[in-house]
Amino acid sequence: MVKKTDVLVIGAGPAGIISALTAKRYYPDKNILVMKDVKNGCIPCGIPYMFWSLKNPDDNKLGMDSLKKNNIDVILGKAVTVDRENKIVAASDGEEYKYEKLILAFGSNPIKPPIAGIDKAGIYPILKDMDYLKTVIGELKDAKNVLVLGGGFIGVEFADEFSKISGLNVYLAEILPRLLGNSFDEEFSVLAEEKLKEQGVQVLTNNKVTEFLGEKKVQGVRFDSGEEIKIDGAILGIGAVPNTDIASNAKLGIGKGKGIWVDEYMRTSDPDIFAVGDCAEKKDFYTRRRASVMLASTATAEARIAGANLYRLKVVRENKGTIAIYSTYVDGLVLGSAGLTEQSAKKEGFEIISSASETIDKHPGSLPGSNKIQVKLIFSKHSGILMGGQVVGGISAGEVINIIGMAIQQRVSMSELETLQMATHPYLTSAPTMYPIVIAAQNAAAKV
Ligand SMILES: Cc1cc2nc3c(=O)[nH]c(=O)nc-3n(C[C@H](O)[C@H](O)[C@H](O)COP(=O)(O)OP(=O)(O)OC[C@H]3O[C@@H](n4cnc5c(N)ncnc54)[C@H](O)[C@@H]3O)c2cc1C
Repeated sequence: MVKKTDVLVIGAGPAGIISALTAKRYYPDKNILVMKDVKNGCIPCGIPYMFWSLKNPDDNKLGMDSLKKNNIDVILGKAVTVDRENKIVAASDGEEYKYEKLILAFGSNPIKPPIAGIDKAGIYPILKDMDYLKTVIGELKDAKNVLVLGGGFIGVEFADEFSKISGLNVYLAEILPRLLGNSFDEEFSVLAEEKLKEQGVQVLTNNKVTEFLGEKKVQGVRFDSGEEIKIDGAILGIGAVPNTDIASNAKLGIGKGKGIWVDEYMRTSDPDIFAVGDCAEKKDFYTRRRASVMLASTATAEARIAGANLYRLKVVRENKGTIAIYSTYVDGLVLGSAGLTEQSAKKEGFEIISSASETIDKHPGSLPGSNKIQVKLIFSKHSGILMGGQVVGGISAGEVINIIGMAIQQRVSMSELETLQMATHPYLTSAPTMYPIVIAAQNAAAKV
């Protein structure tokens, strides 16, 4: 028998959970059912920290309590097809679900590049599955040499975490000349690299892995330089692709970036089907061209838009484009990036002015726990509108980048930032006379 629900959400990652909760808030009378195919999920952003910082990996469990508390039903099942004409989703166990509105929150699949020997045991893509990750942790327990492949933020976080395990030799391999190259300009990414090296991580930039060596289990890796190193395990952190098979089989539009095409309200080419999170196509905030951003924060923002607009469009809740905002952490060093980097802005053809500031995040700077904080801002040369920012410092940098992100989304200008009103306190912030965002804006204005 076909089961009926008003709203069916497929996938219980950040996008699925938040779209279900938002839909319930806006449409409390509707029945909502979330279908998930992973029995024990985990908080994706916490995955690297399951390997050392969290002594019990179960502490990183992604609970479903918030859904249950809000009378949202959760079932374990794998959707296999969407029959759009009859509005029925079929699951792999033969069950069928009829919906009024469908939200696709399928997420993404980790990239497994076609490198010789990649299928050997001991080479691990990152799956957001607690049981799988516990197995990986167990299997890497006695490793002496581990390779992290990919110098984006996931690879950097894994390398940082592994470096804390005593007796473990950590290699971080990246094909590009520097780490975090997509989201930070060189003066910032070099700081992450230095910090990792200080911790003993062997950073192998400009290095392409050409083969994994060994019999059944990986025992080594060869680079394009011909150099070989011994490893007992490898983590693949080289990105992910949107999970769109079911959507494309259902003949929903797929965007140029291979995500499910969506409009400003997260509606797919079928107005009763929404797509959110990693599986949905992203458009750049400035150019509206496709953007390959996959972040939990972006996923939840999209989920809030979809949940609110499911039955009636709320023009105040629309997707104005993706700005790519995130922060990362390397042994106490915090790096945050929002919007365009200087390099990406120039590549895109924007005429820009960039400026920087450096100060201490408490005042006076001799207070305990003070850290140096550096801010870089990128403005449009002609309009003075803020287009991007980067921050490096201590813990406080994690929220400074969010202020910059807000300013980018509100298209705040250089002169507005110069006269920003902010709260300051000796223990909590930089001095009002040296507030890093204000000083960077002033430095930019001086260049005009
Ligand atoms: C190691 C790591 C660290 C990260 N750190 C950060 C961070 O610090 N900050 C940040 O913003 N982002 C981070 N991310 C990115 C973030 O995890 C993703 O952007 C986010 O998980 C996307 O959420 P989602 O709900 O769209 O997809 P997912 O989290 O991938 O969830 C999709 C779910 O749908 C399920 N599903 C798929 N197909 C079906 C089906 N047919 N039937 C039923 N269920 C199905 C999947 O199994 C999965 O559980 C990190 C990612 C990784 C891997």
